[in-house]
Amino acid sequence: MNVKILNSCVGCGACAIINPNVFEIHGNKAIVNPNKIDESDDLCIDAAISCPVNAIEICEY
Ligand code: SF4
Repeated sequence: MNVKILNSCVGCGACAIINPNVFEIHGNKAIVNPNKIDESDDLCIDAAISCPVNAIEICEY
């Protein structure tokens, strides 16, 4: 699985609350820690569903 943050991120912090191992807020945008994705992929999907501006893109490869 690959997780990407789109420019439309507004830095609300929801993804970092749902899955703090993968998502972190830097400045006013979320960033992704790719090393932690595989061990918490369900929470990455939960974060993507919860993002208010659909800024989390998930690719299944
Ligand atoms: S939930 Fe969406 S808008 Fe909020 S910080 Fe995460 S990626 Fe950005």
